[in-house]
Amino acid sequence: MTDRARPTRGNPGGSQTVLVLGAGYAGIMTANGVRAALRPDEAASVRVVLVAPGAQFVERVRLHQLIAGSVGGVTRALDDLLHPEVEVVDGYATRIDPDAREVEVDRSTVLGYSVLVYAVGSGARPAAVDPHARVVACAEDSALARQDLAGLAPGRAVVVVGAGMTGVETASEVAQARPDLQVTLVSAGVLLPGSPARARGRVERTIRELGVALRTSATVVAVGRDAVTLADGTVVPAHLCLWAGPLTTPELAASSGLPVDGRGRLLVDGALRTLGHPDIVGAGDAVSLPDVVGGHLRPSCASALALGRRAQDTVLALVRHEPVVARPVGYLVQCLSLGRAGGYVQLVKPDDTPLPLALHGRPAALVKEQITRMAVAAVERERRRPGSYVVPPGPRPQRARAGA
Ligand SMILES: Cc1cc2nc3c(=O)[nH]c(=O)nc-3n(C[C@H](O)[C@H](O)[C@H](O)COP(=O)(O)OP(=O)(O)OC[C@H]3O[C@@H](n4cnc5c(N)ncnc54)[C@H](O)[C@@H]3O)c2cc1C
Repeated sequence: MTDRARPTRGNPGGSQTVLVLGAGYAGIMTANGVRAALRPDEAASVRVVLVAPGAQFVERVRLHQLIAGSVGGVTRALDDLLHPEVEVVDGYATRIDPDAREVEVDRSTVLGYSVLVYAVGSGARPAAVDPHARVVACAEDSALARQDLAGLAPGRAVVVVGAGMTGVETASEVAQARPDLQVTLVSAGVLLPGSPARARGRVERTIRELGVALRTSATVVAVGRDAVTLADGTVVPAHLCLWAGPLTTPELAASSGLPVDGRGRLLVDGALRTLGHPDIVGAGDAVSLPDVVGGHLRPSCASALALGRRAQDTVLALVRHEPVVARPVGYLVQCLSLGRAGGYVQLVKPDDTPLPLALHGRPAALVKEQITRMAVAAVERERRRPGSYVVPPGPRPQRARAGA
């Protein structure tokens, strides 16, 4: 527990506690916006408490840069970002008891809540991934991968598994930073599934120019110390294996008996309230909305910011005993970095389907870098100007892609 936190259990004297789990984009957006929006009379009786492992913010969209060494670090002290009156508890939430309205932290401390915000993201290490592989989306693994990569002698081989956006960004970043290594991007499917053919063609050209070898329709079935094995028996040298498969959400909701989808994401309604537990509000990668309002959403920083902003409104309505409002969120762009000098920025409709306009090359790299910076600036700004983040409007409900 940090010196910003006071122990909390129950809600004495009619006071309320908004307890936020997770100091990522969604969690900080919610905590800052709620605390800063409280009127002085409310602030006297409503506490906002944030549970954050390491009491720090991890800029996850730069983890591939951390691995490649193109950025010195990806953590920020919470004091730089948080409203000064948000209390911080350093630890992992290990269990939620929705009946008692309590959360256990690090299997010891128990915190009470009036409203809980579930924003634990998607940085969990998948249990099924071989221990020899480093999982890019997992901050702890990325830090280890950075050391592994730095220790590789020229000519050694790196295999990146998964050719979605994270895998492509990682392979590009590593290939540019270490042109003396052999970098191979291996995927069971195609490059960038879901992207238009022209985007795939452009990206493939760029990553090949960076020296990345591409193997699609190739499923990795085993990861060893020096090689990965494909389903057809081919052995591909890999002195470092970087795993960029689908993002994995923590098991906290499921293990606490809360309703989850097949990927362990908390099931929430259009106003982000948990099904059957309306005092638990969810935001970011760790939640799943009904298809009719959220079928188009992809795990992303863009979604986390937008849902965090919407969660502010729902939490404030619950604290004030006012009706909650469901307002869908949408998209403007998809951004991909391809090393430090290249990228691909695709303009999209609110439902994330591509528009004909896209940027590539250095202009795209500059836009991507600006958007990455703006994401952190946006969560910080909420502590001074609550509600200032403008959420792109969502698609009309009947046009949302069901089951996406
Ligand atoms: C290499 C890489 C590149 C990416 N690039 C992009 C990009 O260009 N654009 C984009 O939109 N998205 C990108 N993403 C995805 C993006 O990072 C995530 O979608 C985004 O971080 C989700 O935000 P979040 O707030 O939901 O969760 P997170 O940012 O994951 O934050 C969740 C927080 O909760 C904490 N937590 C976890 N479990 C607990 C617990 N039990 N108790 C308390 N706290 C807990 C975690 O430590 C973490 O700090 C990228 C991801 C990676 C890995």
